[in-house]
Amino acid sequence: MLYLSKSKYCGLWQCPKIAWLQKYKPEVCTQDSAALSRMETGNEVGDLAMSLFGDYIEVTAYDGDTLDLPAMLRRTVEELEKNTPVICEASFEYNGLYCAVDILKAEDGGYALYEVKSSTHDDKDVYLADIAYQCYVLSHCGVTVTHAYLITVNSDYVFDGTLDLACFFRITEVSDRIEAEAVNIEDTIRKAEALLTSDEEPSISLHEGCNAPYPCSFWSYCTRELPSPSVFDLYRLPFSKKLNFYRKGQVSFEQLAGEKTVKNDKQLRQIQHHLQELPPHIDKEGLRRFLSTLSFPLYFLDFETVQPVIPRYIGTKPFAQIPFQYSLHYIEEAGGELKHKEFLAEADTDPRRAVAERLCEDIPKDVCVTAYNKAFECTRLKELAAQFPDLAEHLLNIEQNIRDLLTPFQNGCYYNRAMGGSFSIKSVLPALFPDDPSLDYHNLTGVHNGSEAMALFPRLGSLSESEQAVARDQLLRYCELDTFAMVKVWDAVCRAAE
Ligand code: SF4
Repeated sequence: MLYLSKSKYCGLWQCPKIAWLQKYKPEVCTQDSAALSRMETGNEVGDLAMSLFGDYIEVTAYDGDTLDLPAMLRRTVEELEKNTPVICEASFEYNGLYCAVDILKAEDGGYALYEVKSSTHDDKDVYLADIAYQCYVLSHCGVTVTHAYLITVNSDYVFDGTLDLACFFRITEVSDRIEAEAVNIEDTIRKAEALLTSDEEPSISLHEGCNAPYPCSFWSYCTRELPSPSVFDLYRLPFSKKLNFYRKGQVSFEQLAGEKTVKNDKQLRQIQHHLQELPPHIDKEGLRRFLSTLSFPLYFLDFETVQPVIPRYIGTKPFAQIPFQYSLHYIEEAGGELKHKEFLAEADTDPRRAVAERLCEDIPKDVCVTAYNKAFECTRLKELAAQFPDLAEHLLNIEQNIRDLLTPFQNGCYYNRAMGGSFSIKSVLPALFPDDPSLDYHNLTGVHNGSEAMALFPRLGSLSESEQAVARDQLLRYCELDTFAMVKVWDAVCRAAE
């Protein structure tokens, strides 16, 4: 018998191959730290929503580390028989189709069904498919669903010190909107049966859903036979346009070289440099013009931030970027010594005031500060200035003096084929310094990227003293490497301009 959970059903709905690979080749799934963090965020928001309607009974049960589905089904029946007003994770099974409902709330004539998403969007079709599937299972289990609702995060909510669940969440009735989905359910289930009972891998071409809303966890597997680089590595080409080339069979750079519609200079240069193995393209005049905008003392600044979906700090909205750490390298005069300062907030504190004060201590007014892709640092500085008027003048002075180290690369003054068309520092750095282990993020321990830093900082308070010391050091070393990398990039630009 086909066994289908609601997440499998949604996988099928998005792309049948996802469901097939989950069943037959789970080992080829690659989940990066951003995907894991999205999952944790989902759990956090789901847990919070349970108390949206006051007291509730949650029927979740475990057998060791895994969910005990039979126990959850049993407990659901018990709670329904007791007329429990609010049941969370109420579980149902019909003919191998299984679902656990986030919130089931008793009302006249039956139950209102609530599906919780840790997203600020309530317009995704897959959410409707998810809810329609649950309603289908419940109706076959004899439960009348009177209304169906989608609960999402209200992006306009501002935290004032006490979390107001009714304002934090946005509840949208979708009873009418799921009707269009409901008629497709049996067809989708029939197709699922045929697909999942066969060990023959479905042949499905790449499509828009491979990259939306997030890159699919099976992307590496599904693109393993494409040439490298391929059209999907082209610089700043919208995914839909990449797909158009792919569908026309224009996949390799050789095939794209003759393609008239690739017009962007940077894309053409990326293709030419790869195919013709050209030496680095260096526009010395352009590099000198950029360098003339810098002056000593010269600072290199990088923030790390957390982005809590449930706001923790007064005046912030869901998913606001909150700086908790920075690294600062600086050189006071031409040929001078490279010095370093750093700051990492204490665990379980609102880091903003401490970050703002230390920045004003560490960076004097009217000095030249560099950032890589400066919009991020500038926005954080403006937010801190708005939050702390007494420091605003100093913070805005820093912000106005920021120069962007990305500029010479983005302007096309420096390109080498190892950059692979990307100008992010994680691409530029190894392209400029391919054999320097001191610049290799893989050689760090614990924290290798911004997502890992973002996940670790909120957990600091739950660690023992010794674990916390290790974690803090890992955070500091990661952020330090970010600004050290910027110093090296600046130095490479200076040498290239000579
Ligand atoms: S990468 Fe695309 S085709 Fe492959 S499983 Fe994911 S969504 Fe389906």
